[in-house]
Parts: sequence; C-alpha cells; structure tokens
Amino acid sequence: MDDSKNKNSSGKLFIVGTPIGNLGDITKRAETVLSEADCIYCEDTRVTRKLLSALHIHTKLERADENILAHVIPSILANVAAGRFVAFVSDAGMPGISDPGQKLVDAALSAEVDVETIPGPNAAITALVASGFPTEHFFFEGFLPRKDSEKTARLEELASIPGSLIFYESPHRTPKTLQAIAEVFPKRSAALVRELTKIHEEVVRGTAEELEKAYKGKEVKGECVIVLAEAPVVEKRNSFTHEEVVERAREVLKQDASISSLAKKLSKETGISRNEAYVLLLQLQAS
Ligand code: SAM
Repeated sequence: MDDSKNKNSSGKLFIVGTPIGNLGDITKRAETVLSEADCIYCEDTRVTRKLLSALHIHTKLERADENILAHVIPSILANVAAGRFVAFVSDAGMPGISDPGQKLVDAALSAEVDVETIPGPNAAITALVASGFPTEHFFFEGFLPRKDSEKTARLEELASIPGSLIFYESPHRTPKTLQAIAEVFPKRSAALVRELTKIHEEVVRGTAEELEKAYKGKEVKGECVIVLAEAPVVEKRNSFTHEEVVERAREVLKQDASISSLAKKLSKETGISRNEAYVLLLQLQAS
C-alpha cells in the first residue's frame, strides 16, 4: 500500500474485486489490500477462505452476506472509524454488481467514511467483450425476474433500449430464459457466454431462437451470461405503410382494453413507437 494508505493514518474501507473463476485474475492491489487489511468482510467465508488460502493470506474473515449485511454495516463503519483497514469482497467479481456491496458504499459515503474501490474482474463486461457484439452502448440487466409473466414483461420493457443487453442467469434457468428471450426477440443476435476465465470457457452465438432451440431441455453447465446485440433496424420498425398502421389501429381500438395497453400491442405489431401508437389511438378514438 502507498503512504496514503499507511496504517498510521485514519482507517479506510476497501471494496475489492476478486476473480470470477481464474485465480490468476486477482490484481496486485487486491492482493496487497487483502493481506494488509485488519479484517475482510465477505459473503461466504468458505468461498473467500479458498481464495485467501491460494494466495497464502491469513487475514481474519467475517461474514456479511446479503441477509445480514444491513445489520453488519454499523460495525464495519465503526471499525473503519476506529482507524482500521477493512476490506469487503463478494463471492466473485465486483461487489455491488448483482452482489452485496452497494448499500455498504452508500452508507460509508453518507457517514463520510473513506472508501476506496479496487477494480477487478466482472462477468458482464467480460461477456460483452467476448460476445463480439457492439460495445458502444449497452445495458446491464443482471438477473431477470424468475416468474415467467414478469420475465416477459421486463423483456418487453427492454425492447426499446438502443444497445446490447446483458443478462446474468443461473445455469439451470438458462434454457427457460432463452425461451422467454426468443419469444420477445426471435431474430435478435444472441450469445451464451459460459465459464468465463475457466478451462471450459465458451461463446455460442446465433439468433435468439436458434439458441433457444439449441439448449431446449438440455442441462447447461457452469456459469452463464446471455448477451443480446442491439436490435437490427428492421426489427424495430416493420415495413407497414402509414395506411396499414391506421387500419391496424382501428382494429385494435375495437378491443376492450386501456389505450396504453392497446398502444403497446399496436407498437409491437407494427413497429411504430409506443408513444406514436398512443397518440394515433387517441386521435382515432376522438374522430
Ligand atoms: N459480482 C459478480 C460480477 O462482478 O460479475 C456477479 C455475481 S452474480 C451473483 C453471479 C452471476 O454472474 C452468475 O450467475 C453468472 O451469470 C455471472 N458469472 C459469474 N462468473 C461467471 C463466469 N466465470 N462465467 C460466466 N458468467 C459468470
């Protein structure tokens, strides 16, 4: 650690990124901080102990997983206020990214506790790069809701995002999630990125419906990230003429539902934006 992190100065909280599979990805700064900290708070002490053993680090471990973190935050902050160096890690990757950590950083900053974040591997960014899909704009969704209806509703909300989409998923839910994705975005280019940084690392690409078929009913092994490339322009706006859209809108208006849900339906069918559909439906209703 440099002089600004010398133990004679006041304490500090370190948020430390750790490997997502390959231990060789630990950074020099992470290793130094973990070995020099007075205490490391972690999710599962068995998981972090394994990492520390491989690095020959013997720092004391304390559990602070999702279930108890809220109760442990005051003692973490009190330790730092007492002049100690405290590190916080999650089971893998960057804390706070689909893992505990964000509330701790928020609480520490609110309490004016000194926080330093030590960057490390992250599955979302690594998968995006590994997918080969455009990286200019992307949206990280993390885990989709588990319930089918909520999953589909969320995917429909994400349809208008202009960029690649990144999803985390557990291996056993991956086939069903690919199915839900294929229903909403059948022709979109998709990548299943598995076992990043590990021996069986793999990137499988195809359209969403091709991936759905390839993994249907199969057991997917290892950790997975699903990446979708930005929707091609043809998928976003179908080749309906204005007259055809108006005709379709008249048909849609005959249904007994709110204007906003009819607008959603019209937008999905014709490719016009939901806002355009909403305005058109209101105009036709008033005429
Ligand atoms: N904090 C981690 C990060 O920074 O990436 C994410 C933790 S989240 C609880 C775990 C999910 O991340 C997994 O279900 C999977 O979607 C993804 N993941 C983690 N490690 C991975 C790996 N080696 N290969 C592919 N996906 C991985």
